[in-house]
Amino acid sequence: MTEASSISDRLHQLKAALPEHVTLVAVSKTKPVELLQAALDAGQVDLGENRVQEMNAKAEHFNGQPVRWHHIGHLQTNKVKQAIRHVHLIHAVDSDRLLAEIDKRSLNAGIQSRVLLQLHIAQEAQKHGMTEAELDATLNAIVDTPLGNTEICGLMGMATFTDDTEQVRREFKSLRTLYNRYNPGHWDTCSMGMSGDWRIAVDEGSTLVRVGSAIFGSR
Ligand SMILES: *Cc1c(COP(=O)(O)O)cnc(C)c1O
Repeated sequence: MTEASSISDRLHQLKAALPEHVTLVAVSKTKPVELLQAALDAGQVDLGENRVQEMNAKAEHFNGQPVRWHHIGHLQTNKVKQAIRHVHLIHAVDSDRLLAEIDKRSLNAGIQSRVLLQLHIAQEAQKHGMTEAELDATLNAIVDTPLGNTEICGLMGMATFTDDTEQVRREFKSLRTLYNRYNPGHWDTCSMGMSGDWRIAVDEGSTLVRVGSAIFGSR
């Protein structure tokens, strides 16, 4: 089987297994444009990248094709100006400073940006994300001073990398609980689940899964 046809097969299997209300983001980071093209040819629209330069180069390559670009990894404030050029949704906003920078750069560019706030739900210290107290403070701050050019669309989180599926389940459950608690009514995205844990995430109320290696092969 060619690589292109196995990508197409894996995408179709995943889509068949996902409930209709769950968006599939195919995480194409580090993969060459030929493999992304195979995904697009199979009808995939949402692609995820974690490096701004790579995302923009790919966006320019696929200019004119219907792609929604998701920035899924940690984003540095000095990359925001470049990041907002092609992106459909920024998944991992983990500080007020980053949020303010996105809003400022979006105002300057005359666009409206869409973001998710990243929550720290894993046991691993190296994973990014806000605590519940920080989320609370951030959401309170924007009630007082609304963002003009940034729409918060929901939350995102990454579970601990472990074989303990009950722990992973508890972490996803805690994210979905926060999502329900803080949703002002218009949120539409609870981004959780990757190649190894998307089934558990969907069980626990994910509305968007970010799947890379299970589609494109290992990196
Ligand atoms: C790389 C990455 C993914 C995809 O990981 P896979 O295990 O390959 O599915 C999902 N989310 C984030 C934030 C990532 O960095």
